[in-house]
Amino acid sequence: MLEAVPYDRGATDSDHREVGMSTGVTRSARHRALACLAAVGMTASLATFTQSTAAAAVAQPRPVEKTPIAVGSGGAVSSVDPEATAIGLEVLRRGGNATDAAVATAAALGVTEPYSAGVGGGGFFVHYDARTGEVGTIDGRETAPEAMPRDAFIDPATGEPYPLFPEMVTSGAAVGVPGTPATWDAALREWGTYSLSEALRPATHLARRGFVVDEEFRKQTLDNAERFSAITSTADLFLPDGDAPEVGSVFRNHDLARTYAELGRRGVDWFYTGPVADEIVETVQAPPLSGRTDLPVPEGHMTAEDMAAYEVLWPEPTRHDYRGYEVVGMGPPSSGGTTVGETLNILERFDLASMGQEKALHHYFEASALAYADRARYLGDESFVDVPTEELLSDGFAAERVCELDPTAAAPKPVAAGSADGDYDPSCADTGGTVVDRPDTEGPSTTHLSVVDRWGNVVSYTLTIEQTGGSGITVPGRGFLLNNELTDFSHVYDPADPNRIEGGKRPRSSMTPTIVFDDGKPWLVLGSPGGSTIITTVSQTLLNRIDFGMDLPTALAAPRATPRNTATVSAEPAFREAYGSALSGYGHEFSSSSEIGAMAAIEVSPDGTLQAVAEPERRGGGHAGVVRPAR
Ligand code: GLU
Repeated sequence: MLEAVPYDRGATDSDHREVGMSTGVTRSARHRALACLAAVGMTASLATFTQSTAAAAVAQPRPVEKTPIAVGSGGAVSSVDPEATAIGLEVLRRGGNATDAAVATAAALGVTEPYSAGVGGGGFFVHYDARTGEVGTIDGRETAPEAMPRDAFIDPATGEPYPLFPEMVTSGAAVGVPGTPATWDAALREWGTYSLSEALRPATHLARRGFVVDEEFRKQTLDNAERFSAITSTADLFLPDGDAPEVGSVFRNHDLARTYAELGRRGVDWFYTGPVADEIVETVQAPPLSGRTDLPVPEGHMTAEDMAAYEVLWPEPTRHDYRGYEVVGMGPPSSGGTTVGETLNILERFDLASMGQEKALHHYFEASALAYADRARYLGDESFVDVPTEELLSDGFAAERVCELDPTAAAPKPVAAGSADGDYDPSCADTGGTVVDRPDTEGPSTTHLSVVDRWGNVVSYTLTIEQTGGSGITVPGRGFLLNNELTDFSHVYDPADPNRIEGGKRPRSSMTPTIVFDDGKPWLVLGSPGGSTIITTVSQTLLNRIDFGMDLPTALAAPRATPRNTATVSAEPAFREAYGSALSGYGHEFSSSSEIGAMAAIEVSPDGTLQAVAEPERRGGGHAGVVRPAR
């Protein structure tokens, strides 16, 4: 059974407290509590229901089973977390639409996945409106403070960039103005039916009720223990008694519950111009240090004006065709849409399906490397640099770039970028370009959720606080971590680099929330965490599904490699085992990565049947659900 956190869209915040705490349960509160018990699958029957059972049920969450595949109708949600998926489904069940459910699910992920996403971060929201047939996107990317210096990531003691982890990321200077609260508000206003307050209510309750700590949560906390212990507010919240919460214990976040409740009640301006804004600024400018570690934790430059100036943007989605499907994704400052698009445009020139898996994978490696070369040359924040999005997605450019792809041998990496200038020569006479070799430093954190509602509206939403644990800096008393998204800028200033640090700019992202259309109707909804590997995870999954004949669950579970124009291709052990020696024959060299990505996807069949699919294994697996499971 799919499980839900108890909540009532019409109830007030104090009502929820009453259900959990009061011994004087009112009739309606009792009714709600009964519904809650049923929803969370507690064993108490109606006959044995008592006031104390109600209190115990709410106070004692239990581990929830994860289900990676669900098939049915009435709406679907796929995310990394069972509590979050259940909340999204409950919103859909109660008549909310895809946007309502996506915001409620994202807010729940802020509770259960606080190291991956939350109101201290940003993301990209892609929406399909079934009534109008339009796709709209929200760029809720974090923004650099106006005063961000070009040398923000250079250690004054050495003149060199700080080591990325934990020094550079654990830093006020890495924190961008958060975009997530504004994204939720904007999405609900544009496409939702819930108010912000209604959409946040289930997650508010979840934060207060708590969730059962699993191995992944404990592991992520321990992995970050040193830097978390450097910041008093973070240590107090995530390292109670100096240790990560035990597996099986209940983790509650009352500070976050209050933040959500107040954000809902007072509105998003409260976050950007009210007391929270001041507290964020204060925390960024003077992180609350415990003195327990030697981490430098540089101060940041964010001001109240930076907070107040934040706004989401509404860029055009990226669009291109691939073997008869239309792939729609996120434009700059995300590099996701263009890089997946260019990779697939190049590959479309080959009949991958009939050439055999190893040869097809060689083509994928080479096409992806070419697209990453162009990503490095061209992608950045369009408000600051010209990004030739249309050219990068054009068949003319792909026809020229394919000249660099040798079907029999791997090119030495890094390969040079092309010229996306509109003047293409598919004869392959002259294609020379510039090698752009800048290290990618995006963290392997982040989370993605996919939603389809009963009307056919779709949301594909990827959100993040960058590294696992973000900047490691919790806003005191507010229960959420601030991002370290500004480390997605290139660390060393180069005027030719579109992703160079500039005040007021948004760093380049790899987040790739995607919707694929078949004959004008949504067919696949997908996305993944994984920093710069997100792009290859999306490309490879599409190849698996479209070219290699895998069904969606198999396409998601299949072993991955992430060819990003680097000397060696990072690949999962199972991938190397299956294809390593054949691909070495083409000249590819490998390095190891224990796991790449963790996708959350939905497929809509022509008859409207929904198949929600979450990652089965990686990162502890995700959870997929549908409103009405098929028999
Ligand atoms: N900061 C990364 C990006 O915007 C996301 C981090 C991640 O996926 O771990 O692409």
